[in-house]
Amino acid sequence: MVAVSITIVIIAIGAYAMGGVPNSGEGKLKVVATFYPLAYITQEIGGDRVSVRSLIPYNSEVHSWQPSVADMLAIEEADAVVFNGAGLESWLNNLLGSVNVTGKVLVDTTAGLDLLHIEESEGDDHGHAHEGDLDPHTWVSPYMAERQAERVYLVLVDLDPTNAAYYRQRWESLRDRLSSLDNAYQSGLANKTKPGIIVSHGAFGYLAHRYGFEQYSVIGISADRQPSVQDLTSLVSKMIESNISVLYVDPAYSDAYIVTLRSELERQTGMDVKILKLYLGLGPSDGKDYIGQLESNLESLKDGLVKG
Ligand SMILES: [Zn+2]
Repeated sequence: MVAVSITIVIIAIGAYAMGGVPNSGEGKLKVVATFYPLAYITQEIGGDRVSVRSLIPYNSEVHSWQPSVADMLAIEEADAVVFNGAGLESWLNNLLGSVNVTGKVLVDTTAGLDLLHIEESEGDDHGHAHEGDLDPHTWVSPYMAERQAERVYLVLVDLDPTNAAYYRQRWESLRDRLSSLDNAYQSGLANKTKPGIIVSHGAFGYLAHRYGFEQYSVIGISADRQPSVQDLTSLVSKMIESNISVLYVDPAYSDAYIVTLRSELERQTGMDVKILKLYLGLGPSDGKDYIGQLESNLESLKDGLVKG
């Protein structure tokens, strides 16, 4: 409920800022996004009318990142700050407290959305996140990303109504891509033969929830968990019991535990275990942009859940 009223305030600030903004900079709106997926979305919708800067460098760990003085200055100059919310950017409140935010639009892209709690995202009660904490990894799901992108679209139109038609056309094209991807996930994963996926970092809860499978993670949702021998043993049992022979890693994290799991499973069962990539979308990777990574994730998930 708190989140909802914050959104309303933010939109009101947006309307208030309208008059001054088009004269700033080289006539482009200046937007600071906290990380790559939101920078990508903002650039897709804003095109050449918007200049976008990502605070967190591409392909770096987002959970433990801390801003620098340069990041503070970037926020100082921005017309809008686009962030994920849902607890991802724990440093943001502090940062915003030390800059002048008058006339700036602060866009919490997940405010008011149906967010998962960490217990709902994990198949087992792995991880030591605090009870009630939200799972922040919304952007990995095309369905959630579409809703986040709509927020960005509405704010751009609010800040720069002269270019509303331009933004609308670009938003509709992004929306169509994300929603056909959501449909492709629905139909592509409809005939699952496996109950879930084993991943290094538990960042795929929104996919698991929407498309009806479980995720079992080795290092947890906050990516700060050191798995014990018992944890690894229990994952191996889970895999044997469910006949799972595919493991997933995201390139942003170490695959050491996953490699351990593979050896253990191969030793115990003689199965041939595959390790596949699931991208977190934290930066361009293997020549794939954000949406390219979401597309690639669907193919890998089919390999593990349908064909595996
Ligand atoms: Zn994460």
